[in-house]
Amino acid sequence: MSSLAISLLDLEADAGVCFEAEDYQKRPGKWCAGCGDFGALNAVKRLLAKEQLQPDRMVFVSGIGCSSRFPHYVNAYGFHGIHGRALPLASGIKLARPELDVFVVTGDGDCVSIGAGHWIHAIRYNMNMVVMLLDNNIYGLTKNQTSPTTPLGYSSMTSPHGAQLPALDPLQATLGVSNASFVAQTADWVPAHLYATLEAAYDHPGFSFIRILQRCPKFTPDIFEQAVKDPARTELLVHEDGVDPPGLEKLYEARREHDPKDIDEARSLARRDDMIRLGVFFRDDSLPVYEEVRAVPKVTPQEKINRLNKEFERYAV
Ligand code: SF4
Repeated sequence: MSSLAISLLDLEADAGVCFEAEDYQKRPGKWCAGCGDFGALNAVKRLLAKEQLQPDRMVFVSGIGCSSRFPHYVNAYGFHGIHGRALPLASGIKLARPELDVFVVTGDGDCVSIGAGHWIHAIRYNMNMVVMLLDNNIYGLTKNQTSPTTPLGYSSMTSPHGAQLPALDPLQATLGVSNASFVAQTADWVPAHLYATLEAAYDHPGFSFIRILQRCPKFTPDIFEQAVKDPARTELLVHEDGVDPPGLEKLYEARREHDPKDIDEARSLARRDDMIRLGVFFRDDSLPVYEEVRAVPKVTPQEKINRLNKEFERYAV
């Protein structure tokens, strides 16, 4: 059975109320100590406060997994959906209520595995929403099973002798889909970068896909350990059309000017595995947004009934 949770709002949604970041926290997050999901939640709350988003004008949609508990912790409408189906749910919400801000929270065991078909087509539809893929390289909620992004050779409960397939790279996959319009990568342990990336994604008109490298101290404690300890292993992609948060220059000295309009360079950078790269790989703000351009015939309710009756009559026996 799916679990459906429509949050009741605690906050006054009247215009004029000034929201602080903590006003958007519905209840404390139930994740393990040190889990990277906390950093994502903090960045989201900061963004909501900066934009002063009304809790009754936004929806957080998720699938199943540790990170998919997100909607329970944000003061907004929430839909904790079924495994892999966050994106079709979010697309339906956006089609029915295009004026709402829609945020999708999904994980590698959710979006990149059972939800992969929906993921590919959601990119192609380019509907206006922010999609956060919290990628910890493992199934955490179901206790340590190999996911599509688990590195080759990494052992888990289901692959005790190590993962036998090369990891699926969500950046490369997204950049390969027709109509991709915003693709970025950030990391939970670089909060300034995470926040700046979320800001840019929210400003982008279209499907904003952010892969957030997420620490899971419970099951994959070593995967990002070296990157966290040694900033020289990370390169920041910077550009005036991308993100370049102040204050990171001293810690992250490896910086590369990358024009996010250059899809070929974006794909080439995503393919390289010599360093972790954080930044906006690609964006094109000019691509058509599905909910704005789709042709919807204007018909009255009575005309709809007449059409339906006509169809029924065709098949009457
Ligand atoms: Fe976070 Fe991993 Fe714990 Fe899940 S199992 S809450 S991803 S640390």
